[in-house]
Amino acid sequence: MKKIAIEEAFATENLVTAWRAMLADGAPGEPGMAQHLGRLINTNRGWGAQVAERLVDLGPIRLAEMDANGIDMQVIAITSPGVQCLDADTGSALALEANDILADAVAAHPTRFTGLTAVQPLAPKTAAREIERGAELGLKGIMINSHTKGEYLDAASYWPILEAAEALDTPLYIHPRPASPAMMAPMFERHLEGSMFGFQTETAVCALRMIVAGIFDRFPKLRVVLGHLGEGLPFWLDRMDRIYSRGKNATDAYPFWTAKRLPSEYFLENIWMSSSGHNWDPAVRFVEEVAGEDRLMFAVDYPYEDCKQQVDQAEGVTARNPEKFYELTARKVFNITA
Ligand code: MN
Repeated sequence: MKKIAIEEAFATENLVTAWRAMLADGAPGEPGMAQHLGRLINTNRGWGAQVAERLVDLGPIRLAEMDANGIDMQVIAITSPGVQCLDADTGSALALEANDILADAVAAHPTRFTGLTAVQPLAPKTAAREIERGAELGLKGIMINSHTKGEYLDAASYWPILEAAEALDTPLYIHPRPASPAMMAPMFERHLEGSMFGFQTETAVCALRMIVAGIFDRFPKLRVVLGHLGEGLPFWLDRMDRIYSRGKNATDAYPFWTAKRLPSEYFLENIWMSSSGHNWDPAVRFVEEVAGEDRLMFAVDYPYEDCKQQVDQAEGVTARNPEKFYELTARKVFNITA
Protein backbone atom coordinates (compact mmCIF):
# COMPACT_ATOMS: atom_id res chain seq x y z
CA MET A 1 0.00 0.00 0.00
CA LYS A 2 1.18 3.48 -0.82
CA LYS A 3 0.43 6.53 1.28
CA ILE A 4 -0.92 9.48 -0.72
CA ALA A 5 -1.49 12.79 1.06
CA ILE A 6 -3.97 14.91 -0.87
CA GLU A 7 -4.08 18.44 0.61
CA GLU A 8 -0.49 19.58 0.50
CA ALA A 9 0.36 23.20 -0.23
CA PHE A 10 2.92 25.17 -2.19
CA ALA A 11 3.48 28.77 -3.28
CA THR A 12 5.56 30.42 -5.98
CA GLU A 13 8.10 33.16 -5.29
CA ASN A 14 6.11 35.55 -7.49
CA LEU A 15 2.89 34.83 -5.63
CA VAL A 16 4.58 35.59 -2.31
CA THR A 17 5.92 38.83 -3.82
CA ALA A 18 2.40 39.75 -5.00
CA TRP A 19 1.00 39.07 -1.53
CA ARG A 20 3.66 41.33 -0.03
CA ALA A 21 2.71 44.13 -2.42
CA MET A 22 -0.98 43.64 -1.61
CA LEU A 23 -0.30 43.84 2.13
CA ALA A 24 1.91 46.92 1.67
CA ASP A 25 -1.08 48.43 -0.12
CA GLY A 26 -3.36 47.70 2.88
CA ALA A 27 -5.05 44.67 1.24
CA PRO A 28 -8.27 46.57 0.40
CA GLY A 29 -11.40 44.40 0.57
CA GLU A 30 -9.47 41.58 2.24
CA PRO A 31 -10.01 41.90 6.00
CA GLY A 32 -7.89 39.51 8.02
CA MET A 33 -5.40 39.05 5.22
CA ALA A 34 -2.54 40.75 7.04
CA GLN A 35 -2.96 38.27 9.89
CA HIS A 36 -3.40 35.32 7.54
CA LEU A 37 -0.33 36.02 5.46
CA GLY A 38 1.70 38.38 7.59
CA ARG A 39 3.35 35.84 9.86
CA LEU A 40 4.11 33.76 6.84
CA ILE A 41 5.86 36.30 4.67
CA ASN A 42 7.05 39.03 6.99
CA THR A 43 9.03 37.09 9.56
CA ASN A 44 12.34 35.33 9.28
CA ARG A 45 12.12 33.04 12.28
CA GLY A 46 9.91 30.53 14.02
CA TRP A 47 6.96 28.61 12.61
CA GLY A 48 6.15 31.23 9.97
CA ALA A 49 9.64 31.11 8.51
CA GLN A 50 9.61 27.31 8.44
CA VAL A 51 6.27 27.31 6.61
CA ALA A 52 7.44 29.99 4.18
CA GLU A 53 10.58 28.03 3.31
CA ARG A 54 8.65 24.82 2.81
CA LEU A 55 5.86 26.36 0.73
CA VAL A 56 8.16 27.45 -2.09
CA ASP A 57 10.15 24.21 -2.09
CA LEU A 58 9.08 21.56 -4.60
CA GLY A 59 12.18 19.44 -4.13
CA PRO A 60 14.57 18.36 -1.41
CA ILE A 61 12.89 19.72 1.75
CA ARG A 62 9.48 18.36 0.81
CA LEU A 63 10.81 15.00 -0.34
CA ALA A 64 12.90 14.59 2.83
CA GLU A 65 9.85 15.31 5.00
CA MET A 66 7.81 12.81 2.98
CA ASP A 67 10.54 10.17 3.24
CA ALA A 68 10.93 10.70 6.98
CA ASN A 69 7.21 10.11 7.50
CA GLY A 70 6.40 7.41 4.97
CA ILE A 71 4.43 9.60 2.56
CA ASP A 72 4.79 8.16 -0.93
CA MET A 73 3.03 10.90 -2.85
CA GLN A 74 1.66 14.39 -2.30
CA VAL A 75 -1.24 15.94 -4.21
CA ILE A 76 0.05 19.52 -4.25
CA ALA A 77 -1.97 22.69 -4.73
CA ILE A 78 -1.48 26.43 -4.49
CA THR A 79 -1.78 27.58 -0.91
CA SER A 80 -4.62 29.68 0.51
CA PRO A 81 -5.74 32.27 -0.54
CA GLY A 82 -3.91 31.57 -3.80
CA VAL A 83 -4.36 34.23 -6.44
CA GLN A 84 -7.96 35.02 -5.48
CA CYS A 85 -7.07 38.05 -3.37
CA LEU A 86 -5.37 39.69 -6.38
CA ASP A 87 -6.94 41.41 -9.37
CA ALA A 88 -8.25 39.35 -12.28
CA ASP A 89 -5.30 39.81 -14.65
CA THR A 90 -2.53 39.53 -12.07
CA GLY A 91 -4.20 36.51 -10.54
CA SER A 92 -4.72 34.77 -13.88
CA ALA A 93 -1.07 35.29 -14.86
CA LEU A 94 0.23 34.06 -11.51
CA ALA A 95 -2.06 31.02 -11.64
CA LEU A 96 -0.72 30.15 -15.08
CA GLU A 97 2.87 30.46 -13.88
CA ALA A 98 2.14 28.41 -10.75
CA ASN A 99 0.62 25.66 -12.89
CA ASP A 100 3.70 25.54 -15.11
CA ILE A 101 5.99 25.37 -12.07
CA LEU A 102 3.91 22.66 -10.44
CA ALA A 103 3.68 20.64 -13.67
CA ASP A 104 7.49 20.82 -14.00
CA ALA A 105 7.90 19.54 -10.43
CA VAL A 106 5.47 16.69 -11.13
CA ALA A 107 7.40 15.83 -14.30
CA ALA A 108 10.64 15.79 -12.30
CA HIS A 109 9.16 13.54 -9.58
CA PRO A 110 6.25 11.70 -11.21
CA THR A 111 5.92 9.04 -8.55
CA ARG A 112 6.19 11.47 -5.62
CA PHE A 113 4.18 14.53 -6.70
CA THR A 114 0.97 15.21 -8.48
CA GLY A 115 -0.89 18.50 -8.51
CA LEU A 116 -4.02 20.57 -8.93
CA THR A 117 -4.61 23.50 -11.30
CA ALA A 118 -4.75 26.98 -9.81
CA VAL A 119 -7.27 29.42 -11.31
CA GLN A 120 -8.39 33.00 -10.80
CA PRO A 121 -12.21 32.82 -10.49
CA LEU A 122 -12.45 36.59 -11.11
CA ALA A 123 -11.73 35.77 -14.77
CA PRO A 124 -14.05 32.76 -15.20
CA LYS A 125 -13.55 32.16 -18.91
CA THR A 126 -9.78 32.40 -18.58
CA ALA A 127 -10.04 30.08 -15.58
CA ALA A 128 -12.04 27.56 -17.62
CA ARG A 129 -9.36 27.58 -20.31
CA GLU A 130 -6.67 27.20 -17.65
CA ILE A 131 -8.48 24.14 -16.29
CA GLU A 132 -8.23 22.58 -19.75
CA ARG A 133 -4.57 23.57 -20.00
CA GLY A 134 -3.88 22.19 -16.53
CA ALA A 135 -5.36 18.85 -17.55
CA GLU A 136 -3.12 18.87 -20.63
CA LEU A 137 -0.14 19.53 -18.34
CA GLY A 138 -1.10 16.42 -16.39
CA LEU A 139 -2.58 18.15 -13.35
CA LYS A 140 -5.35 16.15 -11.71
CA GLY A 141 -7.93 18.60 -10.44
CA ILE A 142 -8.62 22.23 -9.59
CA MET A 143 -7.93 24.18 -6.41
CA ILE A 144 -10.16 27.09 -5.38
CA ASN A 145 -9.87 28.72 -1.99
CA SER A 146 -13.54 29.27 -1.08
CA HIS A 147 -14.89 32.80 -1.63
CA THR A 148 -13.38 35.30 -4.05
CA LYS A 149 -13.80 38.90 -2.98
CA GLY A 150 -16.79 37.82 -0.88
CA GLU A 151 -18.50 35.97 -3.74
CA TYR A 152 -19.22 32.26 -3.67
CA LEU A 153 -19.01 29.56 -6.31
CA ASP A 154 -22.79 29.22 -6.63
CA ALA A 155 -22.87 32.63 -8.37
CA ALA A 156 -23.75 32.25 -12.05
CA SER A 157 -20.63 34.18 -13.08
CA TYR A 158 -18.53 31.22 -11.92
CA TRP A 159 -20.48 28.55 -13.78
CA PRO A 160 -17.97 28.37 -16.67
CA ILE A 161 -15.45 27.05 -14.11
CA LEU A 162 -17.85 24.41 -12.82
CA GLU A 163 -18.84 23.52 -16.37
CA ALA A 164 -15.19 22.97 -17.33
CA ALA A 165 -14.57 20.85 -14.23
CA GLU A 166 -17.58 18.68 -14.99
CA ALA A 167 -16.80 18.36 -18.70
CA LEU A 168 -13.25 17.19 -17.97
CA ASP A 169 -14.42 15.05 -15.04
CA THR A 170 -11.71 16.64 -12.93
CA PRO A 171 -12.32 17.21 -9.20
CA LEU A 172 -12.65 20.67 -7.71
CA TYR A 173 -10.93 20.99 -4.35
CA ILE A 174 -12.51 23.77 -2.30
CA HIS A 175 -10.04 24.83 0.35
CA PRO A 176 -10.43 27.29 3.24
CA ARG A 177 -9.32 30.89 3.37
CA PRO A 178 -10.09 33.68 5.84
CA ALA A 179 -13.83 34.23 6.15
CA SER A 180 -15.58 36.52 3.68
CA PRO A 181 -15.67 40.23 4.58
CA ALA A 182 -19.33 39.98 5.67
CA MET A 183 -18.51 37.14 8.09
CA MET A 184 -15.21 38.43 9.34
CA ALA A 185 -15.84 40.95 12.13
CA PRO A 186 -17.08 38.77 15.03
CA MET A 187 -14.48 36.13 14.23
CA PHE A 188 -11.65 38.59 13.93
CA GLU A 189 -12.30 40.14 17.36
CA ARG A 190 -11.23 36.85 18.94
CA HIS A 191 -8.83 35.71 16.20
CA LEU A 192 -11.15 32.88 15.18
CA GLU A 193 -11.03 33.68 11.45
CA GLY A 194 -8.26 31.18 10.62
CA SER A 195 -7.82 27.44 11.04
CA MET A 196 -9.02 27.72 14.65
CA PHE A 197 -12.62 27.99 13.37
CA GLY A 198 -13.18 30.51 10.57
CA PHE A 199 -11.60 28.43 7.79
CA GLN A 200 -13.94 25.50 8.20
CA THR A 201 -16.99 27.68 8.77
CA GLU A 202 -16.21 29.75 5.67
CA THR A 203 -15.64 26.71 3.47
CA ALA A 204 -18.67 24.84 4.79
CA VAL A 205 -20.77 27.88 3.85
CA CYS A 206 -19.27 27.82 0.35
CA ALA A 207 -20.11 24.12 -0.14
CA LEU A 208 -23.54 24.37 1.45
CA ARG A 209 -24.45 27.36 -0.73
CA MET A 210 -23.61 25.25 -3.78
CA ILE A 211 -25.73 22.40 -2.47
CA VAL A 212 -28.92 24.34 -1.65
CA ALA A 213 -28.61 26.54 -4.75
CA GLY A 214 -28.95 23.45 -6.93
CA ILE A 215 -25.44 23.58 -8.37
CA PHE A 216 -25.34 19.77 -8.36
CA ASP A 217 -28.67 19.61 -10.22
CA ARG A 218 -27.17 21.84 -12.89
CA PHE A 219 -23.79 20.04 -12.86
CA PRO A 220 -24.72 16.53 -11.67
CA LYS A 221 -21.32 15.02 -12.45
CA LEU A 222 -19.35 17.79 -10.73
CA ARG A 223 -17.03 16.26 -8.14
CA VAL A 224 -15.96 18.39 -5.18
CA VAL A 225 -13.36 17.61 -2.53
CA LEU A 226 -13.47 19.25 0.89
CA GLY A 227 -10.65 19.08 3.40
CA HIS A 228 -10.79 18.87 7.16
CA LEU A 229 -13.30 16.01 7.29
CA GLY A 230 -15.74 17.82 5.02
CA GLU A 231 -15.38 21.06 7.00
CA GLY A 232 -17.69 19.68 9.69
CA LEU A 233 -20.66 19.21 7.36
CA PRO A 234 -21.13 15.46 7.99
CA PHE A 235 -21.97 16.27 11.60
CA TRP A 236 -24.93 18.41 10.51
CA LEU A 237 -26.42 16.38 7.66
CA ASP A 238 -29.28 14.75 9.51
CA ARG A 239 -30.73 17.96 10.85
CA MET A 240 -30.04 19.86 7.65
CA ASP A 241 -32.14 17.37 5.70
CA ARG A 242 -35.09 17.80 8.08
CA ILE A 243 -34.88 21.60 8.05
CA TYR A 244 -34.44 21.66 4.28
CA SER A 245 -37.38 19.37 3.72
CA ARG A 246 -39.61 21.45 5.98
CA GLY A 247 -38.54 24.71 4.31
CA LYS A 248 -38.99 23.35 0.80
CA ASN A 249 -42.47 21.98 1.51
CA ALA A 250 -43.79 25.00 3.40
CA THR A 251 -46.42 27.14 1.70
CA ASP A 252 -44.05 30.06 2.03
CA ALA A 253 -41.11 27.99 0.79
CA TYR A 254 -37.74 29.68 0.80
CA PRO A 255 -37.00 30.86 -2.75
CA PHE A 256 -33.24 30.51 -2.27
CA TRP A 257 -33.47 26.77 -1.65
CA THR A 258 -33.70 25.58 -5.22
CA ALA A 259 -31.95 22.20 -5.02
CA LYS A 260 -34.35 19.38 -5.84
CA ARG A 261 -33.02 16.84 -3.37
CA LEU A 262 -31.91 16.76 0.25
CA PRO A 263 -28.53 18.26 1.18
CA SER A 264 -27.17 14.89 2.32
CA GLU A 265 -27.92 13.30 -1.05
CA TYR A 266 -25.61 15.72 -2.85
CA PHE A 267 -23.06 15.57 -0.07
CA LEU A 268 -22.86 11.79 -0.29
CA GLU A 269 -22.81 11.67 -4.10
CA ASN A 270 -20.86 14.72 -5.28
CA ILE A 271 -18.46 15.39 -2.43
CA TRP A 272 -15.33 13.61 -1.21
CA MET A 273 -13.29 14.56 1.83
CA SER A 274 -9.79 14.58 3.17
CA SER A 275 -8.59 14.20 6.74
CA SER A 276 -6.19 17.17 6.52
CA GLY A 277 -5.33 18.37 10.00
CA HIS A 278 -8.15 16.22 11.41
CA ASN A 279 -6.77 12.72 11.78
CA TRP A 280 -8.57 12.44 15.09
CA ASP A 281 -9.92 8.97 15.76
CA PRO A 282 -13.48 9.73 16.94
CA ALA A 283 -14.07 12.35 14.25
CA VAL A 284 -12.66 10.16 11.47
CA ARG A 285 -14.73 7.19 12.61
CA PHE A 286 -17.86 9.34 12.66
CA VAL A 287 -17.25 10.64 9.13
CA GLU A 288 -16.55 7.16 7.79
CA GLU A 289 -19.72 5.90 9.45
CA VAL A 290 -21.82 8.69 7.90
CA ALA A 291 -20.20 8.82 4.46
CA GLY A 292 -18.85 5.29 4.03
CA GLU A 293 -15.27 4.20 3.46
CA ASP A 294 -15.10 5.41 -0.16
CA ARG A 295 -15.34 9.14 0.53
CA LEU A 296 -12.47 9.97 2.87
CA MET A 297 -8.81 10.31 1.86
CA PHE A 298 -5.71 10.87 3.91
CA ALA A 299 -4.05 14.31 4.01
CA VAL A 300 -1.52 16.06 6.21
CA ASP A 301 -1.97 19.75 5.28
CA TYR A 302 1.78 20.15 4.78
CA PRO A 303 3.53 22.43 5.64
CA TYR A 304 1.01 23.92 8.06
CA GLU A 305 0.52 20.76 10.10
CA ASP A 306 3.31 18.70 11.57
CA CYS A 307 3.74 15.80 9.18
CA LYS A 308 4.83 13.30 11.82
CA GLN A 309 2.01 14.26 14.19
CA GLN A 310 -0.64 13.83 11.47
CA VAL A 311 0.83 10.56 10.19
CA ASP A 312 1.10 9.11 13.71
CA GLN A 313 -2.39 10.27 14.60
CA ALA A 314 -3.88 8.75 11.44
CA GLU A 315 -2.18 5.45 12.29
CA GLY A 316 -4.07 5.50 15.57
CA VAL A 317 -7.49 5.45 13.93
CA THR A 318 -9.05 2.24 15.15
CA ALA A 319 -11.34 0.93 12.41
CA ARG A 320 -11.08 1.54 8.71
CA ASN A 321 -10.01 0.21 5.33
CA PRO A 322 -6.45 1.58 5.18
CA GLU A 323 -5.91 0.77 1.50
CA LYS A 324 -8.88 2.92 0.50
CA PHE A 325 -8.09 5.70 2.96
CA TYR A 326 -4.40 6.05 2.12
CA GLU A 327 -4.33 5.14 -1.55
CA LEU A 328 -7.19 3.69 -3.55
CA THR A 329 -9.80 6.42 -3.14
CA ALA A 330 -7.27 9.12 -3.99
CA ARG A 331 -6.25 7.19 -7.10
CA LYS A 332 -9.88 7.04 -8.20
CA VAL A 333 -10.83 10.62 -7.36
CA PHE A 334 -7.71 12.24 -8.85
CA ASN A 335 -7.09 9.62 -11.56
CA ILE A 336 -3.58 8.93 -10.26
CA THR A 337 -1.84 6.14 -12.12
CA ALA A 338 1.82 6.84 -11.26
MN1 MN B 1 -4.76 23.08 3.68
